[in-house]
Amino acid sequence: MAIPTTTSLLDRLRALGFARATRTYLNLPPAELVEAALCRGEGVLTNTGALMCDTGKFTGRSPKDRFIVRDETTASSVWWGDINIPFEADKFDQLHHKMVAYLEDKELYVREAYAGAHPDAQLKLRIITELAWHNLFCYNLFLRPDAAADTSWLADFSIICAPGFEADPAVDGTRQANFAILNFTKKVLLIGGTAYAGEMKKGIFGVLNFLLPHTQDTLPMHCSANIGARGDAAVFFGLSGTGKTTLSTDPNRHLVGDDEHGWLPGQGGIFNFEGGCYAKVIDLAADKEPEIWQAIKFGSIVENTRFVPGTRTVDYANKSVTENTRTAYPITYIPNIAVPSVGPVPTHIFFLTADATGVLPPLSKLDKSHAMYHFLSGYTAKVAGTEMGVVEPQATFSACFGAVFLPLHPTRYAEMLGQKMDEHPVSVWLVNTGWTGGGYGTGTRMRLSHTRTLITAALTGQLDAVKFRSHPLFGVQVPAAVPGVPTELLDPRRTWADPAAYDQAASNLASKFVANFEKYAAAASPEILAGAPLVAEPARQAFAV
Ligand code: ATP
Ligand code: MN
Repeated sequence: MAIPTTTSLLDRLRALGFARATRTYLNLPPAELVEAALCRGEGVLTNTGALMCDTGKFTGRSPKDRFIVRDETTASSVWWGDINIPFEADKFDQLHHKMVAYLEDKELYVREAYAGAHPDAQLKLRIITELAWHNLFCYNLFLRPDAAADTSWLADFSIICAPGFEADPAVDGTRQANFAILNFTKKVLLIGGTAYAGEMKKGIFGVLNFLLPHTQDTLPMHCSANIGARGDAAVFFGLSGTGKTTLSTDPNRHLVGDDEHGWLPGQGGIFNFEGGCYAKVIDLAADKEPEIWQAIKFGSIVENTRFVPGTRTVDYANKSVTENTRTAYPITYIPNIAVPSVGPVPTHIFFLTADATGVLPPLSKLDKSHAMYHFLSGYTAKVAGTEMGVVEPQATFSACFGAVFLPLHPTRYAEMLGQKMDEHPVSVWLVNTGWTGGGYGTGTRMRLSHTRTLITAALTGQLDAVKFRSHPLFGVQVPAAVPGVPTELLDPRRTWADPAAYDQAASNLASKFVANFEKYAAAASPEILAGAPLVAEPARQAFAV
């Protein structure tokens, strides 16, 4: 049964402005949270025992409604703009009070957890959720304290998440009814008007992205990570849908984490920020991704999925709610993990890109210039899916493969990575997990098995003796042959029916890289600029207009 409210629990909440806590449950185990979620009508069970929930109107994060309070803590350090949108401190306080008033007499679920698997860079969290299933999400995604641990701490950061509370933009200073607002002085993240659980996870990622470079000289990274049998660590940077979770979940390597890591100074190595995974499940298949398939069991959550009619079997092909269907499970549900979730200095860095133009090679090696250039560019493609009117795939560039989560200027993170590449011998690879044989609509998605084989070849040194040749426009080094992969696949031009169409598409993509990089060009060193693709001058000018 639920733990009744105690004075000590109220004390924990007082710091967050609560005067009462009459129906508040502290650190419930998964079984009780699942029961509560079912009783409250928040979800249903699937045939494998997972809790299936809908996130409502928002089936993804809402970056335009993510704010940071601008005050003395942040004014001169945060990179303000479209990504880090300033919010007034007094408006924050007003919303905070309104949210407390809204929540105070409701059933509330409190969770105490950590973010940061390394003791030197760890946040103590306190999370208050309106929904029981959100509390289970936090149990799964954040790091779980030992049963004996005293978690009655003064939290380093707290989250108040109330999907049922909507802001009034006219008086509260938000853009619309939903919001996620970080306050680094009060150390509180307020979330309202959205039940997309990923806002909590990525909110805390934003906190660490702000704090770690300042306080620990540690590089926060939007990447997955795993460790091979020889103790060699690899990190996989990439924007959403590029394969961080899928490719780091490798039965032959120990999983460190699937999305957010820190890289400590010196010989410190890497550590996961989280305690669980948040995997996409659209078209999930047991034979292609067996570890993720098997992780969807009691204690796991599946979001925005639908059943095969008349059954409790999840129909992973069903996109009627969203393409962004997800599962959230504790990392311990994956058979082969690193315990604790830390690793040594990486020997391999992969940049994953889902290139819908079909231009970039499935695997290429980057020198320092190209590595820095591609890290700052952060290229991937958004593919036309359910969105009305979108016919062509859209190239997107997001610095450091995660600009939307970065409170500081992207060059700050890029400089730290550059320094680490100077300090440690590390191989950097660009992996196109997107299209081959033509762009989206003509070509096909790269086979997952091929991508896995290419990555394994890079990791196991099979490419050390292989010849590489430069891509004529992008200058990245393309292997001539990789065991287990058709040779013609390696050179994208050879996979296109019409090589001239490839050349045109490659030139178009190169122009987009150059146009995107204009904003860094003035400040970038000649070394970084040497990583830029070659662009015919007329094309470049046409794009720059
Ligand atoms: P997010 O940051 O949103 O969590 P992610 O980088 O972790 O995104 P994944 O969840 O790994 O992305 O999604 C990759 C998706 O693409 C999966 O659904 C996977 O099955 C599919 N996929 C298809 N082909 C490939 C491929 N060649 N390489 C990687 N993933 C592929
Ligand atoms: Mn992922």
